[in-house]
This record gives sequence, C-alpha cells and structure tokens, in this order.
Amino acid sequence: MSHISALQSLLGAAAHLITDPDITVSYSRDQAPFAQSAPPLAVLLARSADQISTTLRYANEHKIPVVTRGAGSGLAGGANSSADSIVISLEKMNQIISIDAENQIARVQAGVINLDLDTKVKDLGLAYLPDPASRDWSTLGGNAATNAGGMCCVKYGVTSSHVRAAQVVLASGEIIELGKATKKSVTTYDLLHLFIGSEGTLGIITELTLNLEIRPQSPATLIATFPSVAKAAAASAQLLRFKPSMLEIVDQTTLKAVEAWHPLGFEIAGSVLIMQLDENLHRCQEALDACKNFDLIDGVFSEDPADTADLIRVRKMAYPALERMGATLLDDVALPITKIAEFVEKVEALSASSGLTIGIFGHAGDGNMHPTIVHEHGDTAAAALAQKVFGEIVAIAQALGGTASGEHGIGSIKSALVADEISPTVMGLQRNIKAVFDPNSILNPGKKFPL
Ligand SMILES: Cc1cc2nc3c(=O)[nH]c(=O)nc-3n(C[C@H](O)[C@H](O)[C@H](O)COP(=O)(O)OP(=O)(O)OC[C@H]3O[C@@H](n4cnc5c(N)ncnc54)[C@H](O)[C@@H]3O)c2cc1C
Repeated sequence: MSHISALQSLLGAAAHLITDPDITVSYSRDQAPFAQSAPPLAVLLARSADQISTTLRYANEHKIPVVTRGAGSGLAGGANSSADSIVISLEKMNQIISIDAENQIARVQAGVINLDLDTKVKDLGLAYLPDPASRDWSTLGGNAATNAGGMCCVKYGVTSSHVRAAQVVLASGEIIELGKATKKSVTTYDLLHLFIGSEGTLGIITELTLNLEIRPQSPATLIATFPSVAKAAAASAQLLRFKPSMLEIVDQTTLKAVEAWHPLGFEIAGSVLIMQLDENLHRCQEALDACKNFDLIDGVFSEDPADTADLIRVRKMAYPALERMGATLLDDVALPITKIAEFVEKVEALSASSGLTIGIFGHAGDGNMHPTIVHEHGDTAAAALAQKVFGEIVAIAQALGGTASGEHGIGSIKSALVADEISPTVMGLQRNIKAVFDPNSILNPGKKFPL
C-alpha cells in the first residue's frame, strides 16, 4: 500500500487528502520568487488537530517531510514543498472559537484570517492590532509562525507580543498546550515563544489565544519630505518620542513608481516619512518642527480620516507600484534605527554599481527596511544578478549590526545566511532545540537554517 493510501485509511474517508497534481501544485509554493519547490505527494486540508496528529504520527514513523501552510502569503519560501513531502493546510481550520471581551482575549483556530478577527471585535471597541500588509488574506497561524510585523508594530509590538497561549501538534503527533490565557506567566521556560517565529520547523500551531486591545482612536497623519532618504531616516529616530503608531519611509525611486501608476499630485522632491499618532494628536506641528533639523522640504498633517487615507496611500502602494516596473525581489532586513541612514546610502551605492533599480521603503520606526530590487521580466542574467544583490543587501545589514529578516522570516531563501550573524555555539543550540521537538527532522526540513 502507498503511504498516501495508508494515511487515507488512518484518517478515514471523510478526511480531505488531495493527490491530484493539478491541485497539489497550487499548494507547492508561497510568494517568494526564487525559492525551490515541487508539488507534494499530497495535501491534507486539515479540519482538526486530531487529523493533524494522525498525519504527523504517520509521517514521523515513516520519516516523510511535512510542510505546514497557512495562506501561502509568505515571502521566504517557508511554505514551499518538496516532491517527497505532505503539505498540511490550515485554511479550513478558520473558526473564531471565543471572544472574551472582559479579559481582552480571543481564542481562534490557526487558519483564521488576521483581518477577520479584527473585524469581528471592532463593534466591541476592541482590536487585534498586528497588521501585516497581507492581513486580509494571511492566517493568524502563519502570522504566529513567522512572527509577522506591520505598520503599527512600532508602537504595539509584533505578533509575539500579542500571543498568550497556543495549542500545538508536535512531530510525534502529541497535542500540547503552551502558555496561559493570563496576561502574565513566568512559571516555566517560555516554550510558547519558541514556536512564535519558528516557521513550521518545531510543530504545527492549531489554536491561538490572542490579546485584544482597546481600539485606538482615529489617528492624525503627517507626511514630511526630505532631500534624501538618508535625511528622512535620520529624522525618524527623533520622531519616536512622539510615540507614533506608524512611522514609515518611502524613497524617491518608489515615490516615482507610485506617481507613475496613480498620480497623487505629489511633488517628488525627495523621500518621505509618513507618521501617524493615535495619541498626542496635538503634537503634529511639534513633530514637523523637529523635522526641520533634517533639511525638511515640506510637510503637512491632518486629523481628517479622508486625508489620512490619501496620505498613507503612498506607502500602501509602494510595493505594487514597484511590481509594475518589472520582476521584483522584496528584501526584508532589520537594523538599529540609528544605522538606517548608513544602510540606505550603501544600498543606493549597490544599486548604482549593479545597474539594478532598488526602491527602498519600510518601517523606519523599528528599523525594518524592505529594499526591493526590480529587473526585467524574463531576463535570466538580470534575475541572477538580482538574487546576488539580494544577499548583498542582507550582508550590508548584518555588517551594521542588523539581522537577515525583521518579519518575513528566513524560510528557504535566507537559510544559508543565518550562520553569518550567529556563532557556531548558538547555531549548535538552535539545532539542539530543533532535535528536541523534531528528532527525525520531518517538519519543514532545511528551512530556518540549513540541514
Ligand atoms: C503583499 C504582501 C504583503 C506582506 N506584508 C507583510 C507585512 O507587512 N509584515 C509581515 O510580517 N509579513 C508580510 N508579508 C508576508 C506574509 O504575509 C507573512 O509572513 C504571513 O505571516 C504569512 O502568513 P500565511 O498564513 O500566509 O503563512 P504561509 O505563507 O502559509 O506560511 C508561512 C510560514 O509559516 C509556517 N506556518 C504557517 N502556518 C503555520 C501553523 N499553523 N503552524 C506552524 N507553522 C505554520 C509555514 O510552514 C511557513 O514556514 C506579506 C506578504 C505579501 C504577499
């Protein structure tokens, strides 16, 4: 009997195990352009932790690789499958189990879409705050597995700050509970947070208990133009004292791409910072004045929600506008905020020396930058050069005390770069942790760090 027939009989006829190659191919990769992938042996559209447990027990016994998939919106090849693997998709485990408004928590299945939870609690005056730009289609399980960030994370923290507890299925098939519904707990080693950002390599998250916050008030938005992206970056460090709930940077190259796509009537004299305040609204003028120390060209602010939507459109359109110019490679590195200006100057020099367009934008407030390399569609030499430059951008960040990924994860596209920023001892500890949870290395093997 084949593995798939054996597994189907263990799971029962009702379990949805797909083997049609026309369908499995669509579960074989995420949104990362150059990561390897192949259609898996089968895709389980899981309906319960028990089905996942049965599948992992079998896969562990027979040493079959298992790739967990949320929505496949990842940008690091983390959900990419190999031909010998089984993909477990959480998309059908999409129930919001309970909302406890008094304790400000939600219990959800891991396949719930991020925005669906926030929408559900809105009328209660609550919010689920972590806001990756993919929040209208990425899953909360995927967000937890990548420790996703977003624009408001400069003030409210990334996903890990919002997870209180999780149900996890281990590689052995055992189902465990980690963390507590309480706001605080220091009773044991914090195994819960080992799983946040583990990219499907330690276990499969099936349920999450998440923080809900009092919904922030409607923000004021400020946009300020500087002669260079380095000046804008330098100003951003001075704006943190206003406790921004968003502090984003967009360079001139990216602004031009936005303007060419959807003219917003912008005078593109340089690079911009876009800041939101959801408290201290009255301090916008003071913030603008602080920008004058960095050669501010121009700046406006507004508390009107319609203006706000217009002002942040520039940032929201940054990546799709660059995508219109050609094939793109979106990088993701994080730096000490005081190093952003130097980082940007080095990336601009790399753009000039390589001849590749690189648009730079990102979360200036927490040092998380997304240089995006653009090259001709179908030009294989340019694609290879772009891939090389992608790694060089990471090396620049690492040399400045930064890190290979701020929020998208390491997946398969950056696993070879991790050793450049940690010692052999720390790498050994990472491998030992993996071996504790997944001794046969069946969970997303080769992701996060090389085999
Ligand atoms: C247009 C666009 C904008 C984006 N913007 C942001 C952004 O602002 N911030 C940000 O951080 N990311 C962003 N991303 C990247 C991506 O959306 C996030 O990484 C997201 O958290 C992935 O969620 P997913 O459900 O799609 O997971 P997938 O892509 O399916 O999986 C991601 C990783 O998590 C693992 N995984 C998924 N679910 C589980 C689970 N239940 N248990 C264990 N492991 C699991 C997978 O194996 C894989 O390694 C963006 C992507 C796109 C395409």
